[in-house]
Amino acid sequence: KEELNIIQGALELRTKTVEDVLTPLSDCYMLSSDAVLDFCTMSDVMQSGFTRIPVYENERSNIVDILFVKDLAFVDPDDCTPLKTITQFYKHPMHCVFNDTKLDVMLEEFKRGKSHLAVVQRVNNEGEGDPFYEVMGIVTLEDVIEEIIKSE
Ligand code: ATP
Ligand code: ATP
Repeated sequence: KEELNIIQGALELRTKTVEDVLTPLSDCYMLSSDAVLDFCTMSDVMQSGFTRIPVYENERSNIVDILFVKDLAFVDPDDCTPLKTITQFYKHPMHCVFNDTKLDVMLEEFKRGKSHLAVVQRVNNEGEGDPFYEVMGIVTLEDVIEEIIKSE
């Protein structure tokens, strides 16, 4: 029955979308772009346990960079390095996808691409004004794999 679950999960990749599996923005562990890499911030990052940390400017919906925990390997907390110094040095490409991206397509993109995290956005055309892109959250390779192997 384990096998059937996995096959079921794999088949559902064609119908489910990243919106079904994303981690909502409100639950994301992120850093502000004006953060300083002092002891306090660095231990907080370590304790979060996450490998990839979105960096936002001014508001959480405005993700401008991704920090990898391994970028911190040569950072001395006593130097109080501005986070910007690190993100501008590594300049990891940020991968954005739309909320209606199917999971099979997402899996292919993760396999092809360099990053295993994507920022999920949607077109918000509710309300009076012009439609705008709105960040909903993040999706990682793990979220897609989870969808395949989850057993119910
Ligand atoms: P890795 O396993 O590659 O070290 P990780 O443990 O940091 O990375 P993933 O395994 O990619 O993270 O994802 C595990 C879960 O955590 C997924 O549901 C993913 O959406 C979520 N996640 C990943 N990064 C963050 C983050 N910065 N804040 C909140 N949730 C995150
Ligand atoms: P991440 O993508 O979370 O930053 P990573 O790039 O270090 O982690 P994985 O993505 O987990 O590593 O694995 C990529 C490939 O590298 C896999 O084939 C894995 O078996 C291999 N690999 C991982 N760590 C090592 C290592 N220390 N020595 C040799 N190969 C490794």
